Amino acid sequence: MKTTRTIQSKTAKQVNVDPLTSSNPRLSSKIMNFVEGARAITPGELEANNITRYRVTRFYRKQIVNSDYYDQLKFIVEPSFKEFDNTGDLDTSGENDNTVVPGFQHKYAQTGLLLATDRCASYCRYCFRKRLVGKDSDEIAADLGQIGRYIGNHPEMTNVLISGGDPFVLSTHRLHEILDYLLPFPHLNSIRFGTKALAYAPKRFEDPSLVTLFKRIQDAGKAAFIVTHFDHIGEISIDAERNIRSLRARGVEFFNQSVLLAKVNDDPEILAPTFAKCHQMGVRPYYLFQARPVKGASHFQVSLRRGLEITRGINQRLSGIQKTFKYIMSHYTGKIEILDLGADGRVYMRYHQNRSQEKIGKIFSRPYLEGACWLDDLFEISDGK
Ligand code: SF4
Repeated sequence: MKTTRTIQSKTAKQVNVDPLTSSNPRLSSKIMNFVEGARAITPGELEANNITRYRVTRFYRKQIVNSDYYDQLKFIVEPSFKEFDNTGDLDTSGENDNTVVPGFQHKYAQTGLLLATDRCASYCRYCFRKRLVGKDSDEIAADLGQIGRYIGNHPEMTNVLISGGDPFVLSTHRLHEILDYLLPFPHLNSIRFGTKALAYAPKRFEDPSLVTLFKRIQDAGKAAFIVTHFDHIGEISIDAERNIRSLRARGVEFFNQSVLLAKVNDDPEILAPTFAKCHQMGVRPYYLFQARPVKGASHFQVSLRRGLEITRGINQRLSGIQKTFKYIMSHYTGKIEILDLGADGRVYMRYHQNRSQEKIGKIFSRPYLEGACWLDDLFEISDGK
């Protein structure tokens, strides 16, 4: 192990240049390190291929290098040549179509989604919002008053998810400003923050002013939730656990969502202990997302057959009260729970969320095609495709 660690540390110390911030932004090529090796590249090429900005916090780098899992975790943050593969889409869940006010989406009746920022503490190479993260995007909430008016006109909305990017790269002052436009609505009963900062920069949660922020939500009669994003047990640091426990003691509730990622966590021996650790910290495993067919990130997808084998393997290793996650495909048409691959060769699924209330909970199936990773890869023979 010692030898492996030395090699891992050496690899991790290679300096990745971020050409997007170079002084000669478009023309001069720079050497950029990819997991497969170094490559000269210009910012223009990066932009044309939608390659996400490179950024990893010192904290996270140290955490993964010192874990026994560097060879898996490096794929989360280190760029790959495979990102130049242009198959897939940049908006797989139809977020543009569901945007009702710039920076605010309303896909499912009860939930509003506010994109608070286009920045993150580090950038995940598989991000399904790579079209906007690390860039100056116009998909970010600019006019909070307009968003507030929309929420006021939609009493069916019961909760708002503040996401991005990562809301915890913003100042606490800015988060308070956002709350100014959400807390007055009695029909909102919870405020949720989606964040990977507990993996990338957990010390952010030591900021004492956050206690006041969450208390403000609670004093307004609403529940405060943080949805963490741990994909792998090697990402869960002592600092993350300490800060989660401290905020839980102040009434903040925690859920975790993970993405099923080839070469990173496509193994029940990794995901079962990840979910068990979350459970132990009082963080409820919630969604295990099938990786989306995102342009330049499709190499993270595993087949639905393998995903179902992994899901079964996870459930075989967890106790009853730890099995709180759903294996989910966040598709353009809705959130689909992937249930089983039957002896009849069909994949069985059910809508967990859908714009149409009638479809929620209904089981449906499609013939499985070997290697299929997404609903769009599965066709009925009668479709004639
Ligand atoms: S932290 Fe979230 S929004 Fe940011 S790059 Fe990772 S997955 Fe995307």
